[in-house]
Amino acid sequence: MARESSHSATSLNVRWLGKVPYREALAVQTAMFSNSNMQHLLLLEHPHVFTYGPSSDLEHNLKCDPTQVGAELIKVNRGGDITYHGPGQLVVYPILSLTAKHGVGGPADMKAYVCAVEQLVIDTLAELGVTNAGRFDGYPGVWINPKSVTPQKICAIGVRVSRGRTMHGFALNVSTDLRYMREHIVPCGIAEYPVTSLAELGIDVSIKQVVDIVAMLAAKRWTNGEVDRHDVAWSAHSEESDTSSNVEISARKPVWLRPHVSHGPEVLATKKTLRDLNLVTVCEEAGCPNLSECWADGTATMMVLGERCTRACGFCLIDTRKPLAPDFDEPGRVAQAVVKMKLEHAVLTMVARDDLADGGMAHVAACVREIRNLSPQTRVETLISDAKGTDALDILFLERPDVLNHNIETVARLQRQVRPSAGYARSLSVLARARRAGLTTKSGFMLGLGERQDEVEATLIDLASVGVQLVTIGQYLRPSADHLPVVRWADPSEFTYYAEFGKQLGINHVQASPLTRSSYHAKRAAEQANEQVSVHLVSIR
Ligand code: SF4
Repeated sequence: MARESSHSATSLNVRWLGKVPYREALAVQTAMFSNSNMQHLLLLEHPHVFTYGPSSDLEHNLKCDPTQVGAELIKVNRGGDITYHGPGQLVVYPILSLTAKHGVGGPADMKAYVCAVEQLVIDTLAELGVTNAGRFDGYPGVWINPKSVTPQKICAIGVRVSRGRTMHGFALNVSTDLRYMREHIVPCGIAEYPVTSLAELGIDVSIKQVVDIVAMLAAKRWTNGEVDRHDVAWSAHSEESDTSSNVEISARKPVWLRPHVSHGPEVLATKKTLRDLNLVTVCEEAGCPNLSECWADGTATMMVLGERCTRACGFCLIDTRKPLAPDFDEPGRVAQAVVKMKLEHAVLTMVARDDLADGGMAHVAACVREIRNLSPQTRVETLISDAKGTDALDILFLERPDVLNHNIETVARLQRQVRPSAGYARSLSVLARARRAGLTTKSGFMLGLGERQDEVEATLIDLASVGVQLVTIGQYLRPSADHLPVVRWADPSEFTYYAEFGKQLGINHVQASPLTRSSYHAKRAAEQANEQVSVHLVSIR
């Protein structure tokens, strides 16, 4: 039965992303601004942060040491003075390609677009019963009682339009802690008029209720009501699903998941090499059915930084005891193994090391360097954790691995259930930053955890929109009764469908099959990406 896509290219791709640090959200929206021509609407909350533009007057408008009030202070390239974002404030980033209907044409772009964003906020407030909201001449944003002697600012607006494409957006105070704007800064440098919030106006609404209205009105305004919305889980319990149809752990796997595995003498020889060098491969640890094929193809995945992870994702058979200190001889041994195994494509993977200040990035970077020293012709792919989204990622990016791989693992809605210590927006931001650093980026996820077709399509759209060039999709297999159940066996035809869907989105290579794992056919995928980049380079030259 041919699969029909539920997604229309003219839809507004609405994503509720939960609480997202400012820099991570900026990385995602910058990537969607540059790499995608689709219509996106990102909705989220930020942890406490003050942002300011180059022309800000911090001397007069910043009244505290941000660290003393648990906030970040971030300089961003936008107009306007210092402002605040934090819990209880809905932040909305429309990343749109404005069409003639939106009044495109030089400076008119910006004016017409700002007017449209203001009206979206005013209409949202009206839907919530706030009928005295409007524009206050001479002042940006949306105000309560703008015609009175004491108008109050309820929503800050700061946008950028470049070549008809938009980014940044607005911040609406729902149940915001207004002390951050009253005691710690002079918001937007406007001292003469106060700020307020829906809660202060006596409007008791949740962020979710406001998100529902903004998403509906934005789609009406910009995409004729066409919307493709996917939210991360709103609460820990919002994703408790009906488990009655889950696959029993004792159930026999379908034939396509029962490959005949035989290891020839070369595999046994390679295993000995690895033992001699005291190295571990995920290929062996996970009992991967593709081992002999990959090794014969000159690809293997070595696990560095030990086998004890500081996280416990629901699908992963990993040791979660306290990790041991990094073994500083390991980079050298990894490089020796690459030489002995004559690897053309070496994949380095790691557990999450949240116990290390840099999340283990310097160690992985050292492995890349050592391999380059001993085997310069070997391509190096690094499959990394998110290093909590910190600047430590740049340590590895500077070493320029040939492929930067970071798995998003599942769809937005299931993130909290499947990988509670990670996040959808965080993973997109890691991939966006790596792409911005000029690296070939790759990500992967599993089917069989309860995701729907439209959610898988949305995940592929988001990966493509942050510039990901390589994707792997495989079937989730339950490692033990303590791990998440398999909700269903995805039919092989589904993988073929998603591979085609991904290709249509411009993803260079989608390796998708029930037995696909993150490094399966990694060498081939990287070669294909390089070919396509060189074709592209020729075409733009
Ligand atoms: S972070 Fe990686 S290694 Fe650790 S539990 Fe999750 S998937 Fe497994």
